[in-house]
Amino acid sequence: MQRREPATAEGPFPMVVGDVRVHPLLDGVMPMPLSVLYPDVPEALWRSVSPDLTADGRLDVPFGGFLAVDSSGATVVIDTGGGPTPSPLPDGSSPTRFGELPGALSSLGVGADRVDLVVLTHFHPDHIGWATVDGAPFFPNASYYVHELEWASLDGDHEAREALQPIAPQVRTWSGAQAAPLPWLSLHHAPGHSPGNTVVMVSDVEGGGELAVVGDLFHHPAGMAHPNWRCGFDADADAAAQRRTQWVDRLRAAGTPAVSAHFPGMTPLATF
Ligand SMILES: [Zn+2]
Repeated sequence: MQRREPATAEGPFPMVVGDVRVHPLLDGVMPMPLSVLYPDVPEALWRSVSPDLTADGRLDVPFGGFLAVDSSGATVVIDTGGGPTPSPLPDGSSPTRFGELPGALSSLGVGADRVDLVVLTHFHPDHIGWATVDGAPFFPNASYYVHELEWASLDGDHEAREALQPIAPQVRTWSGAQAAPLPWLSLHHAPGHSPGNTVVMVSDVEGGGELAVVGDLFHHPAGMAHPNWRCGFDADADAAAQRRTQWVDRLRAAGTPAVSAHFPGMTPLATF
Protein backbone atom coordinates (compact mmCIF):
# COMPACT_ATOMS: atom_id res chain seq x y z
CA MET A 1 0.00 0.00 0.00
CA GLN A 2 2.69 2.50 0.86
CA ARG A 3 5.46 1.59 -1.53
CA ARG A 4 7.97 4.41 -1.69
CA GLU A 5 11.32 2.81 -2.33
CA PRO A 6 13.05 3.61 -5.63
CA ALA A 7 12.14 1.40 -8.53
CA THR A 8 14.16 -1.76 -8.97
CA ALA A 9 14.46 -4.17 -11.85
CA GLU A 10 13.45 -7.10 -9.62
CA GLY A 11 10.24 -5.70 -8.19
CA PRO A 12 7.02 -4.81 -9.92
CA PHE A 13 8.41 -1.34 -10.51
CA PRO A 14 9.21 0.08 -12.86
CA MET A 15 6.70 -1.63 -15.10
CA VAL A 16 8.56 -2.16 -18.37
CA VAL A 17 6.76 -2.02 -21.73
CA GLY A 18 9.15 -2.11 -24.67
CA ASP A 19 11.52 0.79 -24.11
CA VAL A 20 9.10 2.59 -21.79
CA ARG A 21 9.39 2.47 -18.03
CA VAL A 22 6.32 3.23 -15.94
CA HIS A 23 6.76 4.25 -12.31
CA PRO A 24 4.06 4.80 -9.68
CA LEU A 25 3.81 8.29 -8.21
CA LEU A 26 2.12 7.84 -4.86
CA ASP A 27 0.57 11.10 -3.64
CA GLY A 28 -1.33 9.83 -0.62
CA VAL A 29 -3.77 7.37 0.92
CA MET A 30 -7.44 7.87 1.72
CA PRO A 31 -9.50 5.78 4.19
CA MET A 32 -12.41 5.19 1.84
CA PRO A 33 -15.63 3.67 3.25
CA LEU A 34 -16.58 0.62 1.18
CA SER A 35 -20.16 1.91 1.35
CA VAL A 36 -19.05 5.02 -0.56
CA LEU A 37 -16.81 3.36 -3.14
CA TYR A 38 -19.02 0.33 -3.87
CA PRO A 39 -22.42 1.23 -2.38
CA ASP A 40 -24.13 -2.01 -3.45
CA VAL A 41 -21.47 -4.41 -2.13
CA PRO A 42 -22.11 -5.70 1.42
CA GLU A 43 -19.08 -5.90 3.70
CA ALA A 44 -19.43 -9.67 4.06
CA LEU A 45 -19.28 -10.10 0.30
CA TRP A 46 -16.20 -7.89 0.06
CA ARG A 47 -14.45 -9.82 2.81
CA SER A 48 -15.13 -13.04 0.89
CA VAL A 49 -13.19 -11.76 -2.14
CA SER A 50 -10.56 -9.39 -0.68
CA PRO A 51 -8.77 -9.25 2.68
CA ASP A 52 -8.18 -5.51 2.90
CA LEU A 53 -11.28 -4.09 4.57
CA THR A 54 -10.56 -2.45 7.94
CA ALA A 55 -12.61 -3.21 11.04
CA ASP A 56 -14.64 -0.04 10.48
CA GLY A 57 -15.46 -0.90 6.88
CA ARG A 58 -12.86 1.16 5.03
CA LEU A 59 -10.30 0.56 2.34
CA ASP A 60 -6.95 2.36 2.47
CA VAL A 61 -7.05 3.58 -1.11
CA PRO A 62 -3.88 5.09 -2.55
CA PHE A 63 -4.09 7.98 -4.97
CA GLY A 64 -1.55 9.60 -7.28
CA GLY A 65 -0.38 9.04 -10.82
CA PHE A 66 2.25 7.38 -12.96
CA LEU A 67 5.43 8.53 -14.65
CA ALA A 68 6.22 6.98 -18.04
CA VAL A 69 9.62 7.61 -19.64
CA ASP A 70 10.90 6.24 -22.92
CA SER A 71 14.50 5.60 -23.93
CA SER A 72 14.74 8.96 -25.69
CA GLY A 73 13.75 10.71 -22.46
CA ALA A 74 10.21 11.67 -23.42
CA THR A 75 8.48 12.10 -20.09
CA VAL A 76 4.77 11.63 -19.42
CA VAL A 77 2.79 12.00 -16.20
CA ILE A 78 -0.57 10.22 -16.11
CA ASP A 79 -2.79 11.91 -13.48
CA THR A 80 -1.57 14.18 -10.75
CA GLY A 81 -3.01 13.03 -7.41
CA GLY A 82 -4.79 15.15 -4.85
CA GLY A 83 -2.42 18.10 -4.60
CA PRO A 84 -1.08 19.98 -1.59
CA THR A 85 -4.49 20.35 0.09
CA PRO A 86 -6.61 17.36 -0.95
CA SER A 87 -10.39 17.42 -0.64
CA PRO A 88 -12.02 15.53 2.24
CA LEU A 89 -13.93 12.36 1.43
CA PRO A 90 -17.73 12.48 1.10
CA ASP A 91 -18.05 11.23 4.70
CA GLY A 92 -15.90 14.14 5.91
CA SER A 93 -12.75 12.15 6.67
CA SER A 94 -9.37 13.25 5.34
CA PRO A 95 -6.52 11.42 3.63
CA THR A 96 -4.10 9.85 6.08
CA ARG A 97 -1.21 10.68 3.74
CA PHE A 98 -1.07 13.38 1.10
CA GLY A 99 1.17 15.76 -0.78
CA GLU A 100 3.81 13.18 -1.70
CA LEU A 101 3.74 13.25 -5.51
CA PRO A 102 6.42 15.93 -6.06
CA GLY A 103 8.77 13.98 -3.79
CA ALA A 104 8.03 10.76 -5.65
CA LEU A 105 8.80 12.50 -8.92
CA SER A 106 12.06 14.02 -7.71
CA SER A 107 13.16 10.70 -6.18
CA LEU A 108 13.06 9.39 -9.74
CA GLY A 109 15.31 12.24 -10.86
CA VAL A 110 12.57 14.16 -12.66
CA GLY A 111 11.72 17.79 -11.99
CA ALA A 112 8.24 19.07 -12.84
CA ASP A 113 9.80 21.30 -15.52
CA ARG A 114 11.16 18.19 -17.29
CA VAL A 115 7.73 16.70 -17.92
CA ASP A 116 6.69 16.92 -21.59
CA LEU A 117 3.17 15.68 -21.41
CA VAL A 118 0.51 15.30 -18.72
CA VAL A 119 -2.55 13.14 -19.29
CA LEU A 120 -5.54 13.90 -17.09
CA THR A 121 -7.88 10.90 -17.20
CA HIS A 122 -10.70 12.93 -15.67
CA PHE A 123 -11.32 15.89 -13.43
CA HIS A 124 -12.06 14.34 -10.04
CA PRO A 125 -10.04 16.02 -7.27
CA ASP A 126 -7.76 13.04 -6.58
CA HIS A 127 -6.50 13.18 -10.20
CA ILE A 128 -5.96 16.88 -10.87
CA GLY A 129 -4.51 18.04 -7.56
CA TRP A 130 -1.01 18.79 -8.86
CA ALA A 131 -2.14 20.03 -12.28
CA THR A 132 -1.82 23.53 -10.85
CA VAL A 133 -0.40 24.95 -7.64
CA ASP A 134 -0.96 28.47 -6.35
CA GLY A 135 -2.72 29.50 -9.55
CA ALA A 136 0.01 28.33 -11.93
CA PRO A 137 0.64 25.13 -13.88
CA PHE A 138 2.74 22.76 -11.78
CA PHE A 139 4.24 21.31 -14.98
CA PRO A 140 5.24 24.53 -16.75
CA ASN A 141 6.55 22.99 -19.97
CA ALA A 142 4.03 20.20 -20.43
CA SER A 143 1.11 19.81 -22.78
CA TYR A 144 -1.92 18.66 -20.80
CA TYR A 145 -4.01 16.10 -22.72
CA VAL A 146 -7.71 16.02 -21.84
CA HIS A 147 -10.71 14.61 -23.70
CA GLU A 148 -12.75 17.48 -25.09
CA LEU A 149 -15.88 16.32 -23.25
CA GLU A 150 -14.05 16.49 -19.92
CA TRP A 151 -12.74 19.96 -20.69
CA ALA A 152 -16.23 21.03 -21.80
CA SER A 153 -17.65 19.78 -18.51
CA LEU A 154 -15.93 22.74 -16.85
CA ASP A 155 -18.47 25.01 -18.54
CA GLY A 156 -21.05 23.75 -16.07
CA ASP A 157 -20.85 24.24 -12.34
CA HIS A 158 -17.73 22.08 -11.99
CA GLU A 159 -15.78 22.23 -8.74
CA ALA A 160 -12.47 22.09 -10.65
CA ARG A 161 -13.28 24.97 -12.97
CA GLU A 162 -11.25 27.64 -11.22
CA ALA A 163 -8.33 25.41 -10.28
CA LEU A 164 -7.81 24.28 -13.87
CA GLN A 165 -8.00 27.66 -15.60
CA PRO A 166 -4.22 28.24 -15.35
CA ILE A 167 -3.50 25.23 -17.58
CA ALA A 168 -5.86 26.38 -20.35
CA PRO A 169 -3.04 27.65 -22.62
CA GLN A 170 -1.27 24.28 -22.29
CA VAL A 171 -4.32 22.04 -22.75
CA ARG A 172 -4.54 19.89 -25.87
CA THR A 173 -8.07 18.55 -26.09
CA TRP A 174 -8.61 15.37 -28.06
CA SER A 175 -11.90 14.06 -29.40
CA GLY A 176 -13.58 10.87 -30.53
CA ALA A 177 -12.75 7.34 -29.43
CA GLN A 178 -8.98 7.58 -29.21
CA ALA A 179 -5.83 9.60 -29.76
CA ALA A 180 -2.11 8.87 -29.79
CA PRO A 181 0.04 11.71 -28.48
CA LEU A 182 3.16 9.51 -28.85
CA PRO A 183 3.78 6.28 -30.81
CA TRP A 184 3.67 4.27 -27.57
CA LEU A 185 0.97 6.26 -25.79
CA SER A 186 -2.70 6.03 -26.73
CA LEU A 187 -5.71 7.54 -25.01
CA HIS A 188 -9.10 5.80 -25.12
CA HIS A 189 -12.44 7.42 -24.36
CA ALA A 190 -14.29 5.40 -21.69
CA PRO A 191 -17.15 7.64 -20.52
CA GLY A 192 -19.42 6.85 -17.59
CA HIS A 193 -17.31 7.62 -14.54
CA SER A 194 -17.13 11.10 -16.05
CA PRO A 195 -17.94 12.50 -19.52
CA GLY A 196 -14.39 12.31 -20.83
CA ASN A 197 -13.01 9.51 -18.69
CA THR A 198 -9.89 8.07 -20.29
CA VAL A 199 -8.02 4.77 -20.30
CA VAL A 200 -4.33 5.14 -21.14
CA MET A 201 -2.49 2.40 -23.01
CA VAL A 202 1.29 2.17 -22.97
CA SER A 203 2.40 -0.08 -25.82
CA ASP A 204 5.60 -1.68 -27.04
CA VAL A 205 5.93 -0.23 -30.55
CA GLU A 206 7.65 -3.50 -31.54
CA GLY A 207 4.46 -5.39 -30.65
CA GLY A 208 5.83 -6.88 -27.45
CA GLY A 209 2.93 -6.10 -25.18
CA GLU A 210 1.10 -3.30 -23.46
CA LEU A 211 -0.03 -1.95 -20.12
CA ALA A 212 -3.44 -0.42 -19.43
CA VAL A 213 -3.51 2.47 -16.99
CA VAL A 214 -7.20 2.25 -16.28
CA GLY A 215 -7.66 5.38 -14.21
CA ASP A 216 -11.01 5.27 -12.46
CA LEU A 217 -12.60 2.78 -14.80
CA PHE A 218 -11.62 0.40 -11.96
CA HIS A 219 -10.73 1.38 -8.40
CA HIS A 220 -9.72 -2.01 -7.04
CA PRO A 221 -8.63 -5.37 -8.48
CA ALA A 222 -11.78 -6.96 -7.04
CA GLY A 223 -13.80 -4.63 -9.23
CA MET A 224 -12.18 -6.10 -12.34
CA ALA A 225 -13.61 -9.48 -11.47
CA HIS A 226 -17.01 -7.85 -10.89
CA PRO A 227 -17.41 -5.14 -13.55
CA ASN A 228 -21.12 -4.90 -12.71
CA TRP A 229 -20.32 -3.48 -9.25
CA ARG A 230 -21.46 0.12 -9.23
CA CYS A 231 -18.93 2.73 -8.15
CA GLY A 232 -20.34 5.48 -5.96
CA PHE A 233 -18.49 8.13 -7.94
CA ASP A 234 -19.77 7.21 -11.41
CA ALA A 235 -21.59 10.07 -13.13
CA ASP A 236 -23.49 7.63 -15.37
CA ALA A 237 -23.67 4.23 -13.68
CA ASP A 238 -25.05 2.30 -16.67
CA ALA A 239 -22.50 3.69 -19.12
CA ALA A 240 -19.69 3.05 -16.65
CA ALA A 241 -20.73 -0.59 -16.13
CA GLN A 242 -20.92 -1.10 -19.87
CA ARG A 243 -17.40 0.31 -20.34
CA ARG A 244 -15.99 -1.78 -17.51
CA THR A 245 -17.36 -4.95 -19.05
CA GLN A 246 -16.01 -4.05 -22.49
CA TRP A 247 -12.56 -3.28 -21.12
CA VAL A 248 -12.33 -6.40 -18.96
CA ASP A 249 -13.17 -8.49 -22.02
CA ARG A 250 -10.65 -6.63 -24.15
CA LEU A 251 -7.81 -6.78 -21.64
CA ARG A 252 -8.45 -10.43 -20.79
CA ALA A 253 -8.49 -11.41 -24.46
CA ALA A 254 -5.17 -9.67 -25.08
CA GLY A 255 -3.59 -10.72 -21.76
CA THR A 256 -2.90 -7.07 -21.00
CA PRO A 257 -2.06 -6.17 -17.40
CA ALA A 258 -3.96 -3.30 -15.82
CA VAL A 259 -3.01 -0.79 -13.18
CA SER A 260 -4.72 2.09 -11.41
CA ALA A 261 -3.37 4.58 -8.91
CA HIS A 262 -6.11 3.28 -6.60
CA PHE A 263 -4.97 -0.36 -6.69
CA PRO A 264 -3.31 -1.55 -3.46
CA GLY A 265 0.38 -0.73 -3.72
CA MET A 266 -0.37 0.79 -7.14
CA THR A 267 0.60 -2.67 -8.32
CA PRO A 268 -0.42 -3.95 -11.75
CA LEU A 269 -2.82 -6.82 -12.06
CA ALA A 270 -1.73 -9.40 -14.63
CA THR A 271 -4.73 -11.69 -14.56
CA PHE A 272 -8.30 -10.97 -13.57
ZN1 LIG B 1 -9.91 8.53 -8.39
